[in-house]
Amino acid sequence: MTTTTAEAHLRVNRFSETGAMHWVRLQLAYGPRPAGSPAARKLSARLHSLLPHSRYEAVPGGLRNVIGVVPGKDRRDVIVVGAHYDTKDIPGFLGANDGAAGTAILMELARHLTPGTLHPTLVFALFDGEESPDDTPDSEFEQTGLRGSKVAARAYRHARAMILLDFVGNANLRIPREASSDADLWAELRDAAARVGAASAFPPATGLDILDDHTPFEALGVPSIDLIDFDYPCYHQLCDDLSHVSGKSLDEVGETVRALLPRL
Ligand SMILES: [Zn+2]
Repeated sequence: MTTTTAEAHLRVNRFSETGAMHWVRLQLAYGPRPAGSPAARKLSARLHSLLPHSRYEAVPGGLRNVIGVVPGKDRRDVIVVGAHYDTKDIPGFLGANDGAAGTAILMELARHLTPGTLHPTLVFALFDGEESPDDTPDSEFEQTGLRGSKVAARAYRHARAMILLDFVGNANLRIPREASSDADLWAELRDAAARVGAASAFPPATGLDILDDHTPFEALGVPSIDLIDFDYPCYHQLCDDLSHVSGKSLDEVGETVRALLPRL
């Protein structure tokens, strides 16, 4: 019998699992982070201070996206990598996977890519207000949620592609193609996953059609994919905490996206 470390189970190591877990813990230390709360405000300032070439993007209702940029060889060729940093407004809800995991992978990617090495310019967009306010019915989610991504989609409507990281940290990660996600881009993602040894996380199946932060980009014609394991049992439940985040899953997604970006 041989043993392997968690960091070494994939074929490559261009993305740090340890680093990604650090970003999850950093966010959870702020407690629940619903849009517009003091905790979300403080967290956004922290993330702003840690992203390259960062700026805020105002969102109606006093909210704000945090945008970071890693310039590529071509400043006009833009690929957006997105995640939401707000959490569902449920008392005590930490959103370890639903929000924090995607944000963690985004932070780790943005801080370790060398400017000028890839062709496209990468825009790392942390959305505020993905979650709808708790006094609005789920049936009105498309109108009341996705608040930050609606603003960012208009700003980056000429982007060549959009990659959304949502529920990407749960154990036994299995992410089928979200039904509205661009099929060609998804095929590129699965190729990248196979190259790094993470194919099992992206089975050859199509899942549900999900309204998410990629939806406003799709509506404006930007080819988009949503990485979301919607079978997550703690979806909008108090058990969405650190114990339900797997470093291995973060690493599988981080290495996969890191391998995808140079091929786009
Ligand atoms: Zn949610």
